[in-house]
Amino acid sequence: MTTPALQLVGVQRRYVQGETPLEILRGVDLELRPGEAVALTAPSGAGKSTLLHVAGLLERPDGGEVLVRGAPTGAMADDGRTALRRTSIGFVYQFHHLLPEFSARENVMLPQMIRGLDKPEASRRADELLKYLGLAQRGGHRPAELSGGEQQRVAIARAVANAPHVLLADEPTGNLDPKTADHVFETLMALVRATGLAALVATHNFELAERMDRRITLRDGLIVET
Ligand code: ADP
Repeated sequence: MTTPALQLVGVQRRYVQGETPLEILRGVDLELRPGEAVALTAPSGAGKSTLLHVAGLLERPDGGEVLVRGAPTGAMADDGRTALRRTSIGFVYQFHHLLPEFSARENVMLPQMIRGLDKPEASRRADELLKYLGLAQRGGHRPAELSGGEQQRVAIARAVANAPHVLLADEPTGNLDPKTADHVFETLMALVRATGLAALVATHNFELAERMDRRITLRDGLIVET
C-alpha cells in the first residue's frame, strides 16, 4: 500500500480561554492518500480551520501526531517544520491573498524562489502552471486586473508551485459565483488527478463535496465519514 501523503493520528487541539479549555479536536484520525480529494464539511465553529492549520504544520497539536509522507513531525524543530511545509504542503484560502503589486507570474514564482530556485526556472515553471490552469495570457497581469475566478486559479498555481504532496483548501470557492466556483473546482480536481496531490477541501458547498472522493465532517471534535 502506498504511504499516505498526510496522516493525523489522535490529534488534539484545545484553546484555553479563562478557566475552561475549549476542546476543538479530541483525537482526530485522518489519512489522505495521493491523488485523493476529501471534502470537509462542518458547521462554522466546528474546528475546520483548526484542523487545516494543524494538518498544515501551522499550529502544533496538543496531543497526537501529524505525519507527512510517513514522517512524524511532532519532534521536529520549527525551522524543520517550516521547510517541510514549504516543500510538501500548499494552501488555498477563501480570499486569494495574492500580492497586489506583483504580476500573476511573479506571485507563482515567489514561493519557488524562497525555496531556492533561480529566477528563470521559477518563471518557466510559473508559466507552465498558469497555462495548465487556463491562464496562459494572464501571467503579466496584476491581481486587480483579473476576475475573481482567475485570481483564485492563480492562488491555486501558487499553492502548488513547489509541487507539494498535500493541498489544504479552506473554502476555496466560497467567494465565487456558482458558475465560477464550478470552474475553479474542476481545475482543482484536474490538478489532483494529474499530479497525485492529496487534497483536503473545507467547503460549505455540498454539491462540490459530492464530487470529491470522500466526505468527512467534524462532530464533537472527532472526524466522522459522511
Ligand atoms: P471553523 O473553521 O469550523 O469555523 P475554527 O477552527 O475556526 O472553526 O474554530 C473552532 C473553535 O475554536 C471556535 O469556537 C473558535 O472560536 C475557536 N478558536 C479558534 N481559534 C482560536 C484561538 N486562537 N483561540 C481561541 N479560540 C479559538
